[in-house]
Amino acid sequence: MSFASLGLSEALVRAVTELGYTEPTPIQTQAIPAILSGGDLMAGAQTGTGKTAGFTLPILQRLTENPREGAPRIRALILTPTRELAAQVEESVRNYGKHVKQKSLVIFGGVAINPQIEKLKKKPDILVATPGRLLDHAQQGTLDLSGIEILVLDEADRMLDMGFIHDIKKVLALLPEKRQNLLFSATFSDDIKALADKLLDNPALIEV
Ligand code: AMP
Repeated sequence: MSFASLGLSEALVRAVTELGYTEPTPIQTQAIPAILSGGDLMAGAQTGTGKTAGFTLPILQRLTENPREGAPRIRALILTPTRELAAQVEESVRNYGKHVKQKSLVIFGGVAINPQIEKLKKKPDILVATPGRLLDHAQQGTLDLSGIEILVLDEADRMLDMGFIHDIKKVLALLPEKRQNLLFSATFSDDIKALADKLLDNPALIEV
């Protein structure tokens, strides 16, 4: 199995090859074609399985293949439980997206909000964020989520464990109804299943 045979473009295959990846991991083999097809996805995957590239590569491809007309807007939103993970995921977006033209930004709490406001004005294509700070921006009107086409909940079980369910629900209410939803979780408690039921439309199911 090769990255190219999963349907990824030359620019994305080149980026992963430069990072030394020779073949896709099991989660990537399953998640990449599923996400490229445009449907919703529920994936059971631990950290270390390569799940970040599993969702980042097809998102980069979909955004690049379907350029937005008109004024720039944020098109993909990736929510993570912690700032460390948010920073790491955004770094992956930059690495995997080295040869395509998608701008990314990470925002999280515990740091000054004003520099983030300035960066949000430049309208990244892909925003990686923790739920609390994301809502702060949305509530003070410094963030427009009405152009979101793809939503990722990464480590959804940890987000629920950390008490983010109310924040997540508030964020969901700010998103356009028509969008692709991707839920990644290491475990599947009843709470995660309830969230998946509410969020996902006829999802592909993947477990590695
Ligand atoms: P993740 O599970 O997304 O946190 O990724 C775990 C680690 O695996 C990261 O350091 C990635 O750089 C690396 N990685 C992801 N996909 C591959 C691959 N196909 N081949 C080799 N390493 C990979």
